[in-house]
Amino acid sequence: CGIVGYIGSKDTKEILLKGLEKLEYRGYDSAGIAVHNEEGVHIFKEKGRIADLRAVVNEDVQSSVGIGHTRWATHGAPSFYNAHPHQNEDSRFTLVHNGVIENDEQLKQEYLLEVPLQSDTDTEVIVQLIGLLSKEGMTTEDAFRKTLSLLKGSYALALLDKEDKSTIYVAKNKSPLLVGLGENYNVVASDAMAMLQVTDQFVELMDKEMVLVTRESVTIKNTNGEIIERASYKAELDA
Ligand code: GLU
Repeated sequence: CGIVGYIGSKDTKEILLKGLEKLEYRGYDSAGIAVHNEEGVHIFKEKGRIADLRAVVNEDVQSSVGIGHTRWATHGAPSFYNAHPHQNEDSRFTLVHNGVIENDEQLKQEYLLEVPLQSDTDTEVIVQLIGLLSKEGMTTEDAFRKTLSLLKGSYALALLDKEDKSTIYVAKNKSPLLVGLGENYNVVASDAMAMLQVTDQFVELMDKEMVLVTRESVTIKNTNGEIIERASYKAELDA
């Protein structure tokens, strides 16, 4: 399983699909991507191989912001409905997740009894919570940070907000995730291998940090919302 994300100026579909192919070795049962353009967020997902996902991706949808996922099912059977990306009730937020949320049932009982869930995944709980907190008036960044503080378990996350095409929200805890830096674009992935097609310059992330990734910037914040400075490094790897 693995996640990828890209924000820049090139069309993102092929970058995401190539990245997911590089993560195939981690194992998966389904895969999906979400791409964000003027019309909104478009989701393509499928049970099976990346080749099966490729077959359902609409070539005509151009976008320079997107996230992708290969799933290794832990909560809910491998199926189209349980494949990521997942969205909240009004589809404002779109999320991919690797890992296992251990308190998903408690969170459902405490916060989501009124929300009709669309999948059997632990992941959907995260995106529905973000949606709920945002409806209560929080900014996306605050809703994301607050939701992270409620989660028990492991995660690598990438989140899109339909209201803001300029940012991918990212976080990790006990699941691998790092940022790749480019000239007027940035990428994220579970493994540097997935990004070598576009960069060899990386920034490491620590558990519980959240990151705001735009075309021009990568801003790492701790759980209190304070900015963390961290140098990047050049990877000596062969694509
Ligand atoms: N726990 C999530 C699910 O079952 C994510 C699994 C993964 O890491 O791919 O959908």
